[in-house]
Amino acid sequence: MELIIENLTKTYANGVQALNGVSLTIPQGMFGLLGPNGAGKSTLMRTVATLQDASSGSIRLGDLDVKQHEQLRRLLGYLPQEFGVYPRVSAEVMLDHIARLKGLANSRERKEVVEALLQKVNLWPARKRNLGTYSGGMKQRFGIAQALLGNPKLLIVDEPTAGLDPAERNRFYNLLSEIGESTIVILSTHIVEDVQTLCKRFAIICGGEVLYVGTPHDAVNMLNGKIWAKSIPKNEVEEYRANYRVIATNLNEGRLFIRIVADSNPGNGFEAMDPSLEDVYFNAISEKMDLVTL
Ligand code: ADP
Repeated sequence: MELIIENLTKTYANGVQALNGVSLTIPQGMFGLLGPNGAGKSTLMRTVATLQDASSGSIRLGDLDVKQHEQLRRLLGYLPQEFGVYPRVSAEVMLDHIARLKGLANSRERKEVVEALLQKVNLWPARKRNLGTYSGGMKQRFGIAQALLGNPKLLIVDEPTAGLDPAERNRFYNLLSEIGESTIVILSTHIVEDVQTLCKRFAIICGGEVLYVGTPHDAVNMLNGKIWAKSIPKNEVEEYRANYRVIATNLNEGRLFIRIVADSNPGNGFEAMDPSLEDVYFNAISEKMDLVTL
């Protein structure tokens, strides 16, 4: 089964064009949707999740059109960006409640499903604790458990790793990657590491348009031999911006390093660098926005 998005546009009532001709084919596995804040990621996710309609274009999951809201929702799991929990209810009780709402009427069956999910997201030992006492990572894993109720064919997770500490992020990566073995998972994120770690394929989206779609490996290869770096005095950064395609400025032990894109050796003390996925991302969005604020 594939998710096929064709020529999707969305203009909000206030005139903001959040999506501008987005076409993507997303197969089973982890697919990353990478873009800066305001790129249109949440708009796209909410449209695929049947929570709002596009202005034009189409979305199909297998044979189903997204406009068939009810049927599509049965195949869909969604973890929104702002995932609120009832603080005074335990994970076990809450999950049981959501399962009942989703139509699992048989209480013994429900108990089994809830237990399996709590085990899967590694919250079984904490199942009796109120959700209000959970850490950010535990809440996100609970969010995944509720999204997985009903065995979705398509799981949408919107910026799930923002605010997680490295250990929690790692645990969350492992969980998502396991789910991606049997499900279409769309991971929307502005964190390059999320895509690097998890995604076989990804798209860069900015200003409501798809700037790149393919594998991280191919994307990085396209910049082979084109990334150059040097350390410069901080007060010269504007001058360098005026003369080179600067895609990143990083401080390292108090010194300022700039990375630029150039087809051939720019001389002037620049050294050749191996390209990274971060270079791909900053190069794509700086071309689009024609300004980089890093
Ligand atoms: P992202 O998830 O990549 O940060 P969004 O889809 O939230 O991007 O936003 C894309 C653009 O649409 C932004 O300019 C945002 O301000 C605008 N936008 C999002 N939701 C609404 C809305 N409900 N009404 C008007 N404009 C919106």
